[in-house]
Amino acid sequence: MRCPFCGNVDTQVKDSRPAEDNVAIRRRRFCPACGGRFTTYERVQLRDLVVVKTSGRREDFDRAKLERSIRIAMQKRPIDPERIDQMISGIVRRLESMGDTDVPSKVIGEIVMETLARIDTVSYVRFASVYKNFQAADDFDKFVSELRPGAVGE
Ligand SMILES: [Zn+2]
Repeated sequence: MRCPFCGNVDTQVKDSRPAEDNVAIRRRRFCPACGGRFTTYERVQLRDLVVVKTSGRREDFDRAKLERSIRIAMQKRPIDPERIDQMISGIVRRLESMGDTDVPSKVIGEIVMETLARIDTVSYVRFASVYKNFQAADDFDKFVSELRPGAVGE
């Protein structure tokens, strides 16, 4: 695994343990070249998903983007980070199990809202209020930037 800081390909695994109720392996890695430390997760990927926006534009599904938007919506909420990881894995698993590799962005948003509504009302309201604008804008990066703290009425 290449070091994200210096690009060295020869990094070491320092620690490896199950995470998210055994659906992932979390590895702590160390780069001997620059001293950088980072974490990787190994997960089962059932299929490669493609997000289809309402504009028709397609892009590879990026779990990190989904995770970022959910974490921002859940910021400072009293919810165990491990629980959030499990929740995100659950959402991805649902998307992967829908029987089609093409997933409309709208469907992703709805599944996220449905899941958040069950777990934490405040996070749900934050996400949903931004999601409404997002549907008009159809731009995930804009969506994430709108979800930043301060932009959600705090
Ligand atoms: Zn490095």
